[in-house]
Amino acid sequence: MSSDLPSYDEAAALVAAYCAQFSPFRPLQESVRLDLAAGRVLAKPLFADSDQPPFARSTRDGFACRAGEASRHGYLRLAGTARAGDAPAGPLPKGAAWEIMTGAPIPAGADAVMMLEHVEAVEGKVKLLPSRKLKQGDNIVAQGTQAMAGDLLLPAGTAIEFAQIALAAACGSITLEAFVLPRVAIVATGDELVTVESSPAAGQIRNSNGPMLAAMVAAAGGEPWVLPAAGDNAEALDATLAQATEADMLLISGGVSAGKFDLVEPALARAGARFHFTGVRIQPGKPLVFGEMPGGKARAIQNESGTKCFFGLPGNPVSSAVTFLLFAAPALGALAGRLSYGPRFALARLTGKAGKLAKPGLTRFLPALCTFGASAGSPPEVAVVPMEGSGDLAALARSNCFLVVPEDARTFEAGAIVRILLS
Ligand code: AMP
Ligand code: MG
Repeated sequence: MSSDLPSYDEAAALVAAYCAQFSPFRPLQESVRLDLAAGRVLAKPLFADSDQPPFARSTRDGFACRAGEASRHGYLRLAGTARAGDAPAGPLPKGAAWEIMTGAPIPAGADAVMMLEHVEAVEGKVKLLPSRKLKQGDNIVAQGTQAMAGDLLLPAGTAIEFAQIALAAACGSITLEAFVLPRVAIVATGDELVTVESSPAAGQIRNSNGPMLAAMVAAAGGEPWVLPAAGDNAEALDATLAQATEADMLLISGGVSAGKFDLVEPALARAGARFHFTGVRIQPGKPLVFGEMPGGKARAIQNESGTKCFFGLPGNPVSSAVTFLLFAAPALGALAGRLSYGPRFALARLTGKAGKLAKPGLTRFLPALCTFGASAGSPPEVAVVPMEGSGDLAALARSNCFLVVPEDARTFEAGAIVRILLS
């Protein structure tokens, strides 16, 4: 049966095809204060407001000079001092040097800066140490070398993180135009679920997927909207789906396996869903469903077909986490207006125990711990975190990535270079 299901790559391609339609359809925009803009997405390009740097400046503490004169290693008399913040000074007289601090404007006439550590200084004069050479432009960033006034610095669709905030600040942007965050409805289903603050009775468990998915949605660029958990009955599911129409995207956890009380797919079908796939050849997460349903009153995004996408994530927490990262996070990134979106993979060297897989034919994603602080020249090292089934939240919480084991592999060997899914 599972050979009828799409492979990981095939399912990912179906999600990518869905995402592709969002490049021309931009979400709504709003103005966001620069100090609150981290994690948002630029809705308008950022242009340089002036040349960057705005004046030729020294990258070192030292002495501005003419490279040709300095390279003859004679003494140059000191003609002035330029501190960061001073207006451009000069002109630099012939046979002279100008004391200068990092970030200060280069005095007119100077074409290089001798580093403090490379000179010999005696009362009011300096010379370049004989072992040193100096070329025109050394230790100077010329005006406009990073960007010219009006240059495009960042296109719309760029994720705003610390570096983009620094660049925007340098350009004098107090606010940035950002896309409105897509609102993502999160619905956990299951008769066994109780709220986090409840004491579960025998047979019950707390709904951990709600808070987990809310955190994942926020990290992937959406606004989580956690709805109350729904029971495993048609009425509860129909009512919840009706409520969720005001979302830009819908995540439902649980109820998508083949069990007697797995009623999510029929409920989605009653709500008018069109399924792109109902199952993927992966483990965990094989029962994942993906599709589109009539749009309703979405908040951030209006797509041409008037639909919104949904993911029915298998209820086991590790399955929910893996399928979110692999499929829902990229879709959310596209909805959020990002030019590029995950999933993010990397290579690492496998350490720890080798492993054997019972049945091939499914791409595996095993919770693993990667130490990114590997010594220089060696790849990050990753070890599989022992896990007791896909409900093992403690194992999930001790991991920071997933080892990817290809569909046709039967074993994974210590020492091998392996692929990991970053979270
Ligand atoms: P299901 O996908 O509904 O068959 O659920 C698979 C397993 O995941 C069962 O053991 C459920 O109790 C568990 N599970 C389902 N939903 C949640 C949830 N929201 N939080 C924690 N565990 C869950
Ligand atoms: Mg269930």
